[in-house]
Amino acid sequence: MTKLSGKVALVTGSSRGIGRGIAERLARDGALVAVHYGSNGTAAEETAAAIAEAGGRAFTVGAELGVPGDVDTLMTGLETGLRAHGESTLDILVHNAGLNFMGRPIEVLTPEEFDQMVAVNVKAPFFLTQRLLPRLRDGGRIVNISSVSTRLASDHGIGYPLTKGALDVFSHTLAKHLGPRGITVNSVVVGFTRTDMTAQVLSDPATLERNVSRTALGRIGQVRDVADAVAFLASDDARWITGTKVDVTGGVNL
Ligand code: NDP
Repeated sequence: MTKLSGKVALVTGSSRGIGRGIAERLARDGALVAVHYGSNGTAAEETAAAIAEAGGRAFTVGAELGVPGDVDTLMTGLETGLRAHGESTLDILVHNAGLNFMGRPIEVLTPEEFDQMVAVNVKAPFFLTQRLLPRLRDGGRIVNISSVSTRLASDHGIGYPLTKGALDVFSHTLAKHLGPRGITVNSVVVGFTRTDMTAQVLSDPATLERNVSRTALGRIGQVRDVADAVAFLASDDARWITGTKVDVTGGVNL
């Protein structure tokens, strides 16, 4: 019996990067995991295959977020996958899928880019949660993947941090709303972590050095640093933690 056996989780954007790490970790802890992706179905299948190879259970759900009908598409795929596994409800919801137009300061960010980030990073988690509330079991978990750029002025633009700040407000406000059902809602504040999203920026030695030097633990984050923290919040050990931000940055700018 592992910590999450009998639980069902949905991790948005778990075809790659941090989301994949979270999906693999939750599955290792015993959860059945819905591996959601936007366009990269092959990567999602690879994640599900890696989970199965490690003895876990997963299925994939494709739905591009931030476009009309996104939540409907996701719900249809999710319901099909759950049914195939004899399930109809969810215990753990991780809003991880995110979009960041890096290196687009206020001078150049377009209204279209701004709207796209809001649609993927804020609107999709909001309305996906709304649709899933009846299916989320009492005592469940919602984890929102936020960013260190909500607590320090980012070198890489203002639009993206604004969306993550909104997600943090979503976390604590929803935590109060769902408290009577025993559902916890928290943000995980992530620092620079090696993924496709940051590969280009971190390939610049000066940027890499600047970010390492301002991190107390003296390195850039790895996917599993974040995945392990999310697994803790998803577990019964974190039952008394809600409405807060857990800083998983290795101590950036202390
Ligand atoms: P990646 O770019 O490596 O992966 C993004 C994931 O989200 C992919 O699975 C992708 O699916 C999915 N996704 C992106 N856009 C959409 C969309 N429109 N519709 C559906 N799915 C989408 O990102 P990271 O792993 O680096 O980031 C994960 C989360 O962590 C994000 O919320 C990000 O903002 C946050 N974060 C990351 C940091 C970092 O340093 N990496 C720092 C702070 C926060 P597909 O494969 O199909 O494209």
